[in-house]
Amino acid sequence: MDDRTFRNAMGKFATGVTVITTVIEGEAHGMTANAFMSVSLDPKLVLISIGEKARMLDKINTSGKFAVNILSEEQKELSMHFAGQIKEEREVDFEWVNGLPVLKNALANIVCNVHSKQIAGDHTLFIGEVTDIEMSDGSPLAFFEGKYSKVSQPISL
Ligand code: FAD
Repeated sequence: MDDRTFRNAMGKFATGVTVITTVIEGEAHGMTANAFMSVSLDPKLVLISIGEKARMLDKINTSGKFAVNILSEEQKELSMHFAGQIKEEREVDFEWVNGLPVLKNALANIVCNVHSKQIAGDHTLFIGEVTDIEMSDGSPLAFFEGKYSKVSQPISL
């Protein structure tokens, strides 16, 4: 099977969009990611998947902690910025929760310590144990077939 077929099929799975953040020696680093899922309620665990070429990989391996910032539909530019899709430099004003940088006005900031990790092909799966959560109201930024979109009205029964 060719890579394009695999990518296209995976793109049929509509997701939200997050920015993963971490910190090394007081310096924040962020990266856009949509490979995120909830794993366990007791203990409270979530999972992210980081590519082997991403600078974020070494940073989480070193810091042992990360935050998942779930973006609102107003934060498309932030997603593009943290995916390296916008050329201009941008100063991002982080908030700090339990020593980790998080994005203001995200729908949720989920702060984690690395619980365990598993290398899977060209990605590393990090399971994080959740230590803190902050939430805001708003509508999610969605990603489907390689494009950003808004979530349409709920289907009424
Ligand atoms: P860099 O390329 O160094 O950083 C990314 C960008 O963030 C740069 O523009 C940098 O200037 C900026 N930045 C970082 N820290 C700061 C800071 N403190 N202040 C201001 N700007 C900062 N990749 C995955 O591995 N897993 C995924 O699940 C995943 N999902 C994605 C979903 C979407 C919708 C998109 C668009 C991309 C996704 N990617 C994913 C790809 C990933 O976002 C890019 O490959 C990214 O550029 C890799 O980041 P990096 O850690 O190498 O950092």
